[in-house]
Amino acid sequence: MSESTVRIGLVLPDVMGTYGDGGNALVLRQRLRMRGQDAEVVSINLTDPVPESLDLYTLGGAEDSAQRLATRHLQRHPGLQRAVERGAPVLAICAAIQVLGNWYQTSAGERVDGVGLLDVTTTPQQTRAIGEVVTTPLVEGLRLPLTGFENHRGGTTLGPAARALGRVTRGVGNGVGDGVEGVVQGSVVGTYMHGPVLARNPELADLLLTRALGVDSLPPLDLPEVEQLRRERLA
Ligand code: GLN
Repeated sequence: MSESTVRIGLVLPDVMGTYGDGGNALVLRQRLRMRGQDAEVVSINLTDPVPESLDLYTLGGAEDSAQRLATRHLQRHPGLQRAVERGAPVLAICAAIQVLGNWYQTSAGERVDGVGLLDVTTTPQQTRAIGEVVTTPLVEGLRLPLTGFENHRGGTTLGPAARALGRVTRGVGNGVGDGVEGVVQGSVVGTYMHGPVLARNPELADLLLTRALGVDSLPPLDLPEVEQLRRERLA
């Protein structure tokens, strides 16, 4: 473990905090502290520049108007883009996938240029995807199915530089008929799963933490009984 404090950026919770995804930053901090590693959450609001020096970053979901404000702020203050250039892990939930993509179209039909960290585009679909979603992960280092709650109208198409996070076994996922959910590109992981997703999928939390710390694995934390409960919930 590191001697210095691990700093987790919670990016724009004042506008991208609608769905409680700020809980992901708390899960990351708690899983570090339970292993004896000092950690803190750094909230970056619309009044702040975006620091490029943090160890990992999380962004939550939002409504269309809020995600437009977030997009403009991230374009004006490119600290997140610089952090990704040096490989800092980023977790992007729902609207944050759209914001970090090439462009997205709002429900009102306006097309907005994104931050360009993810090779994805998003357009509104006929029906809103709402409900439980379960996927089989397609990423090395994840064994267990991923679960969460989706609530989005945007459907996201992956470009050639982006890969899917999982294959959908229940629910809608990215919503363009290709049967996949989420996106992975470089150090950025995106998913439509609320929950918060890291509370429901501790394995994903630990994958992000191993990357942030530059280690191969972390000491296990979860009791076998808890793992068993997760499996039963998925059955
Ligand atoms: N406004 C976006 C959509 O409906 C994102 C919603 C969300 O973040 N839950 O697609």
